[in-house]
Amino acid sequence: MKYDVIIIGAGPGGIFSAFELIRKKPELKVAVFEAGHSLEKRRCPIDGEKVKSCIACKTCSIMSGFGGAGAFSDGKYNITNDFGGTLYEYIGKKKALELMRYVDEINMAYGGEGTKLYSTAGTKFKKLCIQNDLHLLDASVRHLGTDINYVVLENLYNFLKEKVEFFFDTPVEHIVASENGYEVKTADESYFCRDCVISVGRSGSKWMEKVCGEMEIPTKSNRVDIGVRVELPAEVFSHLTDELYESKIVYRTKEYGDLVRTFCMNPKGAVVNENTNGIITVNGHSYEDPAKQTENTNFALLVAKHFSEPFKDSNGYGESIARLSNMLGGGVIVQRFGDLIRGRRSTEDRIEGAFITPTLAATPGDLSLVLPKRILDGIIEMLYALDKVAPGTTNDDTLLYGVEVKFYNMEVEVNKKLMSKKHKGLYIIGDGSGITHSLSHASASGVLVAREIVE
Ligand SMILES: Cc1cc2nc3c(=O)[nH]c(=O)nc-3n(C[C@H](O)[C@H](O)[C@H](O)COP(=O)(O)OP(=O)(O)OC[C@H]3O[C@@H](n4cnc5c(N)ncnc54)[C@H](O)[C@@H]3O)c2cc1C
Repeated sequence: MKYDVIIIGAGPGGIFSAFELIRKKPELKVAVFEAGHSLEKRRCPIDGEKVKSCIACKTCSIMSGFGGAGAFSDGKYNITNDFGGTLYEYIGKKKALELMRYVDEINMAYGGEGTKLYSTAGTKFKKLCIQNDLHLLDASVRHLGTDINYVVLENLYNFLKEKVEFFFDTPVEHIVASENGYEVKTADESYFCRDCVISVGRSGSKWMEKVCGEMEIPTKSNRVDIGVRVELPAEVFSHLTDELYESKIVYRTKEYGDLVRTFCMNPKGAVVNENTNGIITVNGHSYEDPAKQTENTNFALLVAKHFSEPFKDSNGYGESIARLSNMLGGGVIVQRFGDLIRGRRSTEDRIEGAFITPTLAATPGDLSLVLPKRILDGIIEMLYALDKVAPGTTNDDTLLYGVEVKFYNMEVEVNKKLMSKKHKGLYIIGDGSGITHSLSHASASGVLVAREIVE
């Protein structure tokens, strides 16, 4: 055996597996294989001037490399079982929260100290929301910000690099079960280990599907969330964001009874492109450093769709909608709310004439030609509902970027230890398992399996 443990993917799940393994048993021989670059080499080429939109790099620096999709995320670390994944279904709510708090402590010890922990507990906004048929979910959220998140990752890497062998720009192609463990195959070589932790995130979803097929690991289809990213002047939501930072609000539409929710709120943040398997969608983040902040707040409005019979491919449905926006706009489309409700496309002139400066250079267009009516109607209804708690939300100049799609990996069959029921010693964690969808749940799943392996 060359290694005791091989970890595939250096996102939060993989990093916290490695961290906990080394902390608990420093003599273990651990290797991490990562398809993307090391942290300092990660750079998205979009600069808004020479490169205005996604050029589909071989590995997307937003999604891949040390830190995973979390590296340039907003670093909103939500300590809750109410959203961000279903880890609690495997290990119970108490243990899930304990693990999330443990990771938070490590983040604080490795550079996050001094960042603020916000909480919805006892807030007056809960009442205000419910009076308007909106439902504010409970959570504690630590906002690291993209800048401090980077510092934490740098420090974690400096701790790990002497003790763990890292292979960057080295995608794993196949995993083969052998008598005493696993053979991990890259393009050039094979490596061997006793235990293997797969933590390939959303960017590894297609690969994960292939591996599950090859290793006969059962999977279940998951949901897909489809919607837009809303951008408006920071003042409109400042009463909420100053106190809560992020508010996860859910609304049931009157017309169809669908649930629409706010997601990933970034006060004074920026809207960015995201490339998942060649499909360009939209996301957002913000900095902790006031010098890097913008005048706008952005957040997603998403509607969940889950297909099971006879059509099962929820992600394929989301992909087709994103491809339509990529076809019409060459990438992400932006539209003023006022144009959308008047049934006309936005143009360069209308965007330039708006009282808000977009933080992402997207193509002005018409989202009603992209999003299915049911989803778009739900989003419009939710915007009017939000306008009651944050007046100004439905101003004509509010910008809607589309499409935002949250692809969830299919759920992989694992036991309560997140170990494949079919293959002993093969753990599948983080967003790649379909069980988590957040920094906190993915990191917690990494700690969990490291402890199992050590025991
Ligand atoms: C712009 C942006 C903002 C976000 N903001 C937040 C936020 O504020 N709060 C929050 O909770 N979540 C946020 N998220 C989501 C969060 O980043 C993810 O939930 C989290 O990173 C999942 O961790 P993970 O380790 O499971 O997977 P990932 O972070 O996706 O890491 C998986 C890694 O595996 C690598 N990989 C894939 N396939 C292979 C292979 N075959 N071989 C080797 N390596 C492979 C990938 O390159 C990647 O680096 C954001 C995401 C983005 C993109």
